Amino acid sequence: TLTDETLAAIHAHDDVDAFLALNDDAAKAQAKALDEAGTFASPLAGLPIAIKDNIVTKGLTTTASSKILGNFVPPYDATVIEKLNAAGAINVGKTNLDEFAMGSSTENSAFKVTKNAWDHTKVPGGSSGGSAAAVASGLVPAALGSDTGGSIRQPAAFNGIFGFKPTYGRVSRWGLIAFSSSLDQIGTLTRTVKDSALVLNVIAGHDDKDATTAEQPVPDFTAKIGQSIKGMKIALPTEYLGEGVDPQVADQIRKAADQLRSLGATVDEVSLPHTKYAVPTYYIIASSEASSNLQRFDGIRYGFRAEDVKNLKDVYVRSRSEGFGPEVKRRIMLGTFSLSAGFYDAYFKKAAQVRTLITNDFAKVFENYDLIIGPTTPTTAFTIGEKVTDPLTMYMNDILTIPANLAGLPAASVPAGFVDGMPVGLHMIGKHFDEQTIYQVAAAFE
Ligand code: GLN
Repeated sequence: TLTDETLAAIHAHDDVDAFLALNDDAAKAQAKALDEAGTFASPLAGLPIAIKDNIVTKGLTTTASSKILGNFVPPYDATVIEKLNAAGAINVGKTNLDEFAMGSSTENSAFKVTKNAWDHTKVPGGSSGGSAAAVASGLVPAALGSDTGGSIRQPAAFNGIFGFKPTYGRVSRWGLIAFSSSLDQIGTLTRTVKDSALVLNVIAGHDDKDATTAEQPVPDFTAKIGQSIKGMKIALPTEYLGEGVDPQVADQIRKAADQLRSLGATVDEVSLPHTKYAVPTYYIIASSEASSNLQRFDGIRYGFRAEDVKNLKDVYVRSRSEGFGPEVKRRIMLGTFSLSAGFYDAYFKKAAQVRTLITNDFAKVFENYDLIIGPTTPTTAFTIGEKVTDPLTMYMNDILTIPANLAGLPAASVPAGFVDGMPVGLHMIGKHFDEQTIYQVAAAFE
């Protein structure tokens, strides 16, 4: 079966080090059962798919690339996994990420360094770097990722594939190991636009187990693929081609805008004036929520516990000190500080207010436009090791992807040319719950 071949290929050729765990036996058993049943009613039946290792999978180790969950075998499936199983998709294995999805290069994994599919000396991006490299290197046609500040779109851009983050509330987060609950969203990494829409058709929808999922009806996300984009009104914010964006990347995006014009769309320059506050706003909100979410890792309930502990406090302190990596500790400290009495008003509350200003910027542009475009990342993939010692430079990588998370908007990265042999991503941001327009324009551009 395709499953056998896929697993054999991963065993033999995971040259990018994308996978942490393979699901050999379960995947083969599922493929066999499907074969015997002889029913392939769902478009995903038999499709091998890779799963980012912060999405829980029953009976299959789920680590979030952290030592603290190194031996965690979940007793249940995430809602998205239940839905994929029911549609006959086959989870072939779990992919590497930055620990707890904190990072932009997958170098923060406690277990291995994943490589860019185009150049093994470069990072695959992050935090869904394993999922992106697995798809881009041809090991699987599709993978799930999670996107809190760009973690699907940035690695998709760095690896020249299609990455899609749905509207906040479109896909259940039940079973996604929480990083920042008001920003996290599960989405897809695929080679084609249509494959993404087919997977979203299966995983989208309200879930009683996640109160933030919307009651919104789920359309057929493939419905507008193939339709003309003539007359479409597209906005290109000045801020997205400004300072810090590599001029050669900006050139590719201008070329992409011209291509959209040649397909009958109009592309106008607009302004999103609060863009410059997005990164600091994000790091306060995301770290605050992370510091709260990560309290559950205490050495008692799950995973790793330090050895030779003397008392309860020792269990907590030593298990967390030894179990978490440096970036995770940095976020916990940052978040705990922002939320502490005396600093809450100056940091967390202020960030929440600026978040509203950023959201309002988008709402204003969407009064007159159907879609916003720009580069997904300021540069193409950087060299492994280049930014690990400089967290602030690493944080600036997400300057263009973070605003969509703060506003809860759907957004995608579509391959749009190359700079010095490395892929460039065209970023598309849509209106709330209007994933269909992104798919329509992305497919026209593809
Ligand atoms: N790179 C960003 C961060 O480190 C985004 C991560 C993500 O989207 N999960 O927080």
